[in-house]
Amino acid sequence: MQKKTVRDVDMKGKRVIMRVDFNVPLKDGVITDDTRIQAALPTIKYVLEQGAGLVLMSHLGRPKGEKKPEFSLAPVAAYLNNLIDADVKMATDVVGAEVQAAVADVKPGDVLVLENTRYYNEEEGKKCTAEEQDAYAKELASFGDIFVNDAFGTAHRSHASTAVITKFANESVSGFLLEKEIEYLGNAVANPERPFVAIVGGAKVSGKLEVLTALMEKVDTILIGGGMAYTFLKAQGYNIGGSLVEDDLLTKATEILAAAEAKGVKFLLPSDNLAADAFSNEANTEVVGKEIQDGWMALDIGPETTATYAAEIASAKTVVWNGPMGCFEMPTFAKGTMGVCQAVADSDSISIIGGGDSVAAVNVSGLADKMSHISTGGGASLEFLEGKALPGVVALDDKDSGSCCGTCGCGC
Ligand code: AMP
Repeated sequence: MQKKTVRDVDMKGKRVIMRVDFNVPLKDGVITDDTRIQAALPTIKYVLEQGAGLVLMSHLGRPKGEKKPEFSLAPVAAYLNNLIDADVKMATDVVGAEVQAAVADVKPGDVLVLENTRYYNEEEGKKCTAEEQDAYAKELASFGDIFVNDAFGTAHRSHASTAVITKFANESVSGFLLEKEIEYLGNAVANPERPFVAIVGGAKVSGKLEVLTALMEKVDTILIGGGMAYTFLKAQGYNIGGSLVEDDLLTKATEILAAAEAKGVKFLLPSDNLAADAFSNEANTEVVGKEIQDGWMALDIGPETTATYAAEIASAKTVVWNGPMGCFEMPTFAKGTMGVCQAVADSDSISIIGGGDSVAAVNVSGLADKMSHISTGGGASLEFLEGKALPGVVALDDKDSGSCCGTCGCGC
């Protein structure tokens, strides 16, 4: 079932309550990366252009149900005020009489930013009853004639402001950002152009087990990098020295390798590695093969592996990438990740960068504009690729009756 979007509703003269993902990094009250605010702008501007008033809500960090000023959205409201041609006001709270009065004052073209939704335990449904969470969501829903969800980063959470609110909203539709995420990820899952190559890296196998299992059903090739590679190499009998390993997953790793072989999925592990004698940018380093000597640890894939992976990527038509190839935060160990980044940028494929550290790596590389789609939600994009339904998407209004398009993330 396709979900309704902001294009499917008449907003003129109405008030819209919109969930965005303004969970931006802050240092001493200053926003250090505004990617998420920029990503929400197209829908914010569209709603205002339609002649609606706008009430925005988001979480920021983990205030754990308390009104902690360091988690206030006030710096975001001030930042937004400088970005758009509208008067952006900051509410004193998320709910309550004062906020209700401020909401009533929102006229077409005005913007009011509510305080951090996680100032209340009801947001996540923790330490409260279902009735209390419903009451909180109901009050949020009352702030608009239409509810818009444009927060893909929290779409995998069934929270008051992402999913429960739809029980009480007159109309619930997606914003452009959510729509684009679902379109790219959905098409990759349901109708990928082949060859379909998945690049999976990051620290641990345990964090990516489910996505590896799900991708195995869909892709032609899986390229493994990052710390997780060494659990696989150890499972194959190699000495991995002091490299990151999850000994409790050695059997699982062997099973994954066997499953890939059985399904005819090309499952590539690093053939060479950059080993270091300490976990430090200043460590002594050496390019080694699959064996890592004792006292050394592999912190990046080696040049031969980078070239092999680049060749696979060059022939791909769809690429999904989640997780760095090494400890790219340290320049000494960033070459593998940057090489893969360059290969994805150079390829003609539909490239989807799946949130989290891979997005940070792509941003560091300066190649972000060469990617087809950079997901704004690490956890949400992983769950989508794992084939799980996203509660924040499921809860939105259906466009029309009929059979599921298979790409919408509704899980039907
Ligand atoms: P994840 O959140 O699972 O995607 O993991 C990302 C983290 O994995 C980054 O902070 C990397 O520094 C780290 N990482 C990547 N490769 C390695 C490695 N070979 N050894 C240890 N940590 C790694």
